[in-house]
Amino acid sequence: MNFDFRSELSRRRLLGAGVALSGLALVGCASTSSGPSIGRVVIVGGGFGGATTARYLKLWGGNVDVTLVDRNPEFISCPISNLVLGGHKQMADITRGYGGLKALGVRVVQGEVTAIDAAGRKVRLANGTELPFDRLVLSPGIDFMMDGIGGLAAGIDSGRITHAWKAGPQTVALRRQLEAMPDGGVFALSIPKVPYRCPPGPYERACMVASYVKVAKPRAKVLVLDANPEITSKKGLFEKAFKDHYAGIIEYRANNELKSIDGTTAKLEFDDVKADVLNVIPPQRAGDIAAKAGLVNMNNRWVGVNWLTMESTAAPGVHVLGDATFPAPLMPKSGHMANQHAKVAAAAIIQLLKGEAVNPTPVVMNTCYSFVTARDVVHVASVHQFDATEKTFKTVPGSGGVSSAANQVEGRYALSWAENIWSDMLAL
Ligand SMILES: Cc1cc2nc3c(=O)[nH]c(=O)nc-3n(C[C@H](O)[C@H](O)[C@H](O)COP(=O)(O)OP(=O)(O)OC[C@H]3O[C@@H](n4cnc5c(N)ncnc54)[C@H](O)[C@@H]3O)c2cc1C
Repeated sequence: MNFDFRSELSRRRLLGAGVALSGLALVGCASTSSGPSIGRVVIVGGGFGGATTARYLKLWGGNVDVTLVDRNPEFISCPISNLVLGGHKQMADITRGYGGLKALGVRVVQGEVTAIDAAGRKVRLANGTELPFDRLVLSPGIDFMMDGIGGLAAGIDSGRITHAWKAGPQTVALRRQLEAMPDGGVFALSIPKVPYRCPPGPYERACMVASYVKVAKPRAKVLVLDANPEITSKKGLFEKAFKDHYAGIIEYRANNELKSIDGTTAKLEFDDVKADVLNVIPPQRAGDIAAKAGLVNMNNRWVGVNWLTMESTAAPGVHVLGDATFPAPLMPKSGHMANQHAKVAAAAIIQLLKGEAVNPTPVVMNTCYSFVTARDVVHVASVHQFDATEKTFKTVPGSGGVSSAANQVEGRYALSWAENIWSDMLAL
């Protein structure tokens, strides 16, 4: 099939612009950078939620004073990182700088935020710097709950076990372990019970690892040890991919919750699995700084939010986005969704700083692509509309759905999606 990649890219850029324009109409203001600042916003976390907020506060607010803090000097994307594990992409392909945001006038600070004083309206960094704010945005992503799995924290600290569920050095380490694994070796992937970030991500990872060993180590096995009773996203499509492309390589085991680790042996309830490479995706909760700030008020793991403004229900004036939030029904923890939360928050913050009403009917959407081979991709999509009675987002009946089959056109869409969302959030 002939495919014009550039026109597809333009088409999708236009779709991205459509989201921005609808948001512009939503806040009813043109971008303006003249006049006095309407307020100071500090954003903690320069990932999908935080970076997008910084960009859209500038795009829609113009004269908002925006400071973005992240511990890392560059953004490294989790989406597409499974392709690095499969050897189909390099780290440079998933790494982008903050230069676009700086050029828009965002003050980008590299540092670790160690404390939040919501009442005193300031954050403190590890180096002692204090940043005052009128409104705070927190999009810290996830941190791991290691305590319930004996030996996991020590295994990860020693470098013997990897999670690679935050892209960066862990991605590089896991790829190296995979390359060093003998032909005939066992790669075991442990998946926690839902909810975790990126529901289809583990199954995409199994496919990407298998796509590599199929060629480079054809006698190796990929064991998927899933704590859940079944594949949690795009089930039929992944089952078909496992069967069509990786029969004899991927073995999927449901209800296999990891209890403890000994070396690279995974200890399950009834069984031990000796692996050459053990990749553990630990159970997750809101990023540490949210807990330190006293914002974690849902199931002892997540932050409850007011969906019209994304303000924490524990601390007004503090807007929490992305994976750290207790999700609305059927709302996935995804980069795309964090990007959408950010647009709701940016629009609301501008209105609140101006003392005006926020949009009462926000709509957000999500598409998650998964590679099942280096080229064939499947997607799941959903649209979520705010319901004023129940004060939460609910999926719009008949919206969204999944691919009918894996295909290469969606493979190109998936790469365009990644380039476009990185451009959208980082002003590239
Ligand atoms: C393997 C994998 C594949 C994925 N694939 C997809 C996909 O295809 N599509 C999709 O939509 N989503 C995907 N996701 C999910 C996506 O990566 C997350 O949902 C998304 O990153 C959430 O955005 P966020 O802003 O909440 O957190 P993040 O993007 O993780 O950003 C959090 C940022 O906060 C910073 N930070 C945290 N605490 C502090 C602190 N105290 N001080 C300073 N900085 C701090 C971190 O350094 C980080 O940069 C995938 C995830 C994984 C692991």
